[in-house]
Amino acid sequence: METVVSGIRPTGNLHLGNYFGAVKSFITMQEQYKCFYFIADWHSLTTHPHPANLRQNVRTILAEYLACGVDPDKATIYVQSDIREIPELYLYLNMNAYIGELERVTSFKEKVRQNPNNVNAGLLTYPTLMAADIIIHHADKVPVGKDQEQNMEMARHFARRFNQIYEVEYFKEPASFSLSDKAVKVPGLDGTGKMGKSTGNAIYLIDDESTIKKKVMRAVTDQGPTTPNQVKPEPIENIFTLMQIVSDPSTYEYFNDKYNACEIRYGDMKKQLAADINAFCAPIRERIEYYSHNEALLSQVAEKGATAARESAARTLQDVRQIIGFRRN
Ligand code: AMP
Repeated sequence: METVVSGIRPTGNLHLGNYFGAVKSFITMQEQYKCFYFIADWHSLTTHPHPANLRQNVRTILAEYLACGVDPDKATIYVQSDIREIPELYLYLNMNAYIGELERVTSFKEKVRQNPNNVNAGLLTYPTLMAADIIIHHADKVPVGKDQEQNMEMARHFARRFNQIYEVEYFKEPASFSLSDKAVKVPGLDGTGKMGKSTGNAIYLIDDESTIKKKVMRAVTDQGPTTPNQVKPEPIENIFTLMQIVSDPSTYEYFNDKYNACEIRYGDMKKQLAADINAFCAPIRERIEYYSHNEALLSQVAEKGATAARESAARTLQDVRQIIGFRRN
């Protein structure tokens, strides 16, 4: 069975964009592959989080993934910082990573632009840590978006370079992949762009019914179409896209027909959309409540994942140490 590795950044609550753009594919993949899903808490240190926030964010993300259906009996779910072999491999990979190539990475240059006062070495070596995360389990496939393609290219480079330097065929080159040809893009409700944490237009899985309703009712609309079958402007298209994602196809058809006949009442459509989003979120919300108040269960899941991930990582490091020339242990 092929191995899949994917990291999850602990950066707050999951929203509908995260669910339909990423979490849903994790749930599908765990049925077909040997999956390692980890919470990338070491990666998040580049922005120096407060210890209490870091701990809370890791717990939150774990509870939310479990609530969505990521299953510890099917996938290995673990916290990155529980696996000490990862920084050891990171160290070895850093010895063969060159400053020039790291400085050329687009996401690094972007971070430097955004945060010129915090250009730390962790930021520069983000691609080597990511490569260590992936190749430590000999991943065949890594589900990533376009923005991570360059980091994946680096991971392949580092795997290849290790093999060349030590004249072995040890690490395989991980492939980037996506479950569908067309990436799902969940739009925001503020007229343009996609749903995101930083843009403040997100509906979170944890949002209660009245919060969802408030957010949906505020969605940007217009005066309505004036000619039949008119092309939808972006804000309207976005509401329809959301409806397509969360509602029954017949509901979408109903409002689409109304739009095409110039009889659409956006208020009715929004009420329906809010109800459908709530129907989708309610069971997940209940499970988030359950998991986030069950500290013992969360620890148990993290421990189970850590044991399996450590086993896999330790096997790799034992080989790597031997290949590099350290004494066998
Ligand atoms: P982020 O919270 O931005 O780090 O995103 C975590 C994951 O969710 C990534 O795989 C993103 O590609 C995905 N994601 C975030 N926002 C959206 C969105 N609006 N539509 C689709 N996927 C998204």
